Amino acid sequence: MPTATPIRVALIGLGKIARDQHLPAMAGNPDFELVAIVSRHAEQPGLPSFHTFDELQASGVAFDAVALCTPPQVRHGLARQALEAGKHVMLEKPPGATLSEVEDLRQVAEAHGVTLQATWHSRYAPAVQPARDWLAGKTITAARINWREDVRVWHPGQDWIWEPGGLGVFDPGINALSIATAVLPRPFFLTSAVLHVPENRQSPIQAELDFVDTVGTPVRAEFDFLQTGPQSWDIEIDTDAGLLRLSHGGARLWIDGALVHEAPEAEYPGLYARFAELIAAGASDVDVTPLRHVADAFLLGRRVAAPAFVE
Ligand code: NAP
Repeated sequence: MPTATPIRVALIGLGKIARDQHLPAMAGNPDFELVAIVSRHAEQPGLPSFHTFDELQASGVAFDAVALCTPPQVRHGLARQALEAGKHVMLEKPPGATLSEVEDLRQVAEAHGVTLQATWHSRYAPAVQPARDWLAGKTITAARINWREDVRVWHPGQDWIWEPGGLGVFDPGINALSIATAVLPRPFFLTSAVLHVPENRQSPIQAELDFVDTVGTPVRAEFDFLQTGPQSWDIEIDTDAGLLRLSHGGARLWIDGALVHEAPEAEYPGLYARFAELIAAGASDVDVTPLRHVADAFLLGRRVAAPAFVE
């Protein structure tokens, strides 16, 4: 069935990221029209709102695509239902709670001839592509990721983050891995990890990861959910031509301490532009590399008990 223009979207899960980013990004892109909301609790004035996806399907409201903004633990069932109904699906990150789920969705999308987009919003931060371009042809000798934020500031009340499948500190950490896997020229592999898990929670609150790439370059990542004061979302890469630093989650690029690239944040407009392109091309984009690294950390990581976390 041909997709209408604009692409009519039903958004599922009206939480923080849906309100902060998806609603404005769709409103700013004439290729999309938000036509319905599926939310267990909330409504969006002026739009048909449904408590479940089944209710939306039964309503007769016409839509072409779904933007899935729920926590990862409930993504697979909803995404599968949408794909089987012939709808294009945009998945918030991480694309699922397990790698097997995401592979299943990839196959279902292919079988139904619809688009599946596993989004990695941080890859659309403005300095990421310039960093990748600058690194091309340089000799890289080491990389360090420092992703430190205060969970009480950025994730208040998000109990799902501490449950199995919620990823804990890897919820932001996977953004760093999505950038590192985009800018570093060679694949890298986990050699060891330490996961600090609060005694009253299921997911890590801090993590240290050591990787090595195919020519032996060390890549070190430190994720911290207990950072108060200045926050850091930084990646440093040592090269034969100087020190590259991506700061502010990929928004600014520095070479040897000099700011060389900065642009206004436009991650979600970038994701929606890509979604429109993929739908027009009849293609999907399902890169699981960042999630694979997280899964590897959970497979290989040494657990260390951390003090109970109380919000
Ligand atoms: P959130 O504020 O907790 O919102 C998630 C929404 O999903 C809830 O408000 C709820 O909306 C719906 N939901 C459906 N089933 C749920 C369940 N079993 N438990 C909890 N909520 C459920 O979380 P968020 O920060 O928007 O994050 C959602 C996803 O976006 C996560 O995968 C996260 O990694 C990703 N993300 C978040 C950010 C950020 O800055 N917060 C940035 C980028 C990506 P209804 O009440 O409408 O059903």
